[in-house]
Amino acid sequence: MSDEPIVDEEAFAATQRLIRLTALRGSPIEGDGCANCYYYLEPGAELAFCWQEKLQMLVGASWWCHFWEMTDDD
Ligand code: SF4
Repeated sequence: MSDEPIVDEEAFAATQRLIRLTALRGSPIEGDGCANCYYYLEPGAELAFCWQEKLQMLVGASWWCHFWEMTDDD
């Protein structure tokens, strides 16, 4: 067994493309983040599914991306 990590190069490249397309980052911008975004499925949770069509993945409450949208309550 090798100690070398096995990286799925295709998945890695797809993730890099997604980050470029969405400008996804790990911190909020001026108070806007996944936690208060319309597409964050479980408000109040630290991690939740983002159902925006370009993302469709697990994201963190403090993350942010270009597709951020105000919630109905704002
Ligand atoms: S659209 Fe962007 S900001 Fe909104 S929950 Fe998804 S990743 Fe977060």
